Amino acid sequence: MATTLDQRARPLRDLRISVTDRCNFRCSYCMPKELFGRDFAFLPRAELLSFEEIVRLSRLFVEEGVTKVRLTGGEPLLRRDLERLVEMLARLDGITDIALTTNGSMLAAKARALADAGLTRVTVSLDALDDEVFGAMNDVGFPVARVLAGIDAAADAGLTPVKVNMVVRRGVNDHCLLEMAERFRCRGHVLRFIEFMDVGTTNDWTLEDVVPAAEILGTVEARWPLEPQQPNYKGEVATRYRYRDGAGEIGLIASVTQPFCGGCTRARLSADGKLFTCLFARRGHDLRALLRAGMSDLEIAERTREIWTARTDRYSAERAISERAMPERASDGQTIEEPAKVEMSYIGG
Ligand code: SAM
Ligand code: SF4
Ligand code: SF4
Repeated sequence: MATTLDQRARPLRDLRISVTDRCNFRCSYCMPKELFGRDFAFLPRAELLSFEEIVRLSRLFVEEGVTKVRLTGGEPLLRRDLERLVEMLARLDGITDIALTTNGSMLAAKARALADAGLTRVTVSLDALDDEVFGAMNDVGFPVARVLAGIDAAADAGLTPVKVNMVVRRGVNDHCLLEMAERFRCRGHVLRFIEFMDVGTTNDWTLEDVVPAAEILGTVEARWPLEPQQPNYKGEVATRYRYRDGAGEIGLIASVTQPFCGGCTRARLSADGKLFTCLFARRGHDLRALLRAGMSDLEIAERTREIWTARTDRYSAERAISERAMPERASDGQTIEEPAKVEMSYIGG
């Protein structure tokens, strides 16, 4: 396996593949209803990469060092026959892990087929256990019980441990931390608290809305003592803590207050085949154009190698520095340094 290093000596190891830019939720922090309304122009079907195109690119990425792929979106389970893509990816030599990030709304019906196809792990996003809070956050009134049924189905299908992602937003769901921790303790699931991030340009992000991971940790720790755990692998984004009473573990994803750019080995492929080397990138590299222009594997591999080799991205680390340099601006609650970034629903989380 090749090790392609970027300008900061980071290898390419993970590929996040967005299979659709559509979603049946309108989470206010990701696809606010006011902007992603009826008239919003989602990608037409012909512009999406086909499964064959995704698998071909994935094979070339494996040759550059990728061992893990994650399917995401939009809501990836809206893409018809996703299990067929999982099966095709599972046949590629060199991929050790095929994961899925989903809002869980359709997981109860799909978990078994996905596991049978070769999915190895699933992460389900769930921001609260209270229907009113959750319904307001997903902004389509989607009930908690159906997501919990999806989590149960994933566990029954052997996709364990199931990870549960909770985006914490000040004044919206930060009163739900302990209730969430209690629900997923002792069940073998790993709850991960995520700091609200300034992805895209549409979610009205302000620093005041971010609940720092240290504060989240303090709240949970005051109720159930915790101890730090070693990362599962180099470059793991979540910091792990174990409940001292043996009830399992939690994770904290502190992308705003403790950026982890130094270990970032992730590339992202949008649903229409653009390669992004950072979640906060302004520009993607059009690999679909190369595929559809009939380029050879060798030519496409050379282009992706060039892109990764030129990579310098460290957006979150730079934002943290600029926040420290401009505290008065940050505490104003204003958005810091805002060029036009891509939306999370397009590029995948
Ligand atoms: N629809 C799927 C889901 O929600 O799990 C997959 C795509 S979603 C963009 C991937 C992850 O990004 C989810 O866990 C979601 O909560 C997280 N996310 C979206 N916007 C975010 C933001 N502004 N800050 C932090 N996390 C965010
Ligand atoms: Fe959809 Fe996931 Fe974004 Fe929510 S976070 S709007 S479920 S893509
Ligand atoms: Fe990676 Fe960019 Fe996030 Fe830093 S900001 S961790 S480089 S995706």
